[in-house]
Amino acid sequence: NDLREENLISLIQDVMTLLSSQASLYKVDIELEYDDSLSYNVHCDKSQIKQVFINLLKNAIEVMENGGEVVVHVKRAHNEYVIDVVDNGPGIPPNLIQKIKEPFFTTKKNGTGLGLMITGELLEKHNGELTILSSEHEGSTFRVSLPLE
Ligand code: ADP
Ligand code: MG
Repeated sequence: NDLREENLISLIQDVMTLLSSQASLYKVDIELEYDDSLSYNVHCDKSQIKQVFINLLKNAIEVMENGGEVVVHVKRAHNEYVIDVVDNGPGIPPNLIQKIKEPFFTTKKNGTGLGLMITGELLEKHNGELTILSSEHEGSTFRVSLPLE
């Protein structure tokens, strides 16, 4: 671990830049929403938290076969940051919500099924968590929470 004070917004913007060519290839538009009157400092291992957002945004991009939109909502609550990654893809059937976090579960031809497991582990190392909220056919929301200092 390499813990430093990082800016959560610029970290997410870095990931969006990293994935911008894949996103445009898939005709997926990614937006970032936050209250710019607040500060978003977080004590974290930058490359690990970047990996969290790479995994979630790649999944959102790859699930939308006919293009779509992903919105990353960053909220600062009393004692934690809550970041919702919301897509308007096919959603996740309720019976699969528990399964998709398990290692090697994938519905992709060349998937590893490791992304969400790793994402959950990286967040737990930061005393945060990954929550999957989804309504079938209405897209998915993956909620990241990370403690404030
Ligand atoms: P992989 O991407 O290699 O399949 P992941 O652990 O990242 O592995 O994801 C596991 C599975 O969860 C995916 O194969 C897909 O079925 C499902 N999934 C992940 N993200 C989404 C999403 N945004 N919308 C719908 N299904 C998803
Ligand atoms: Mg993945």
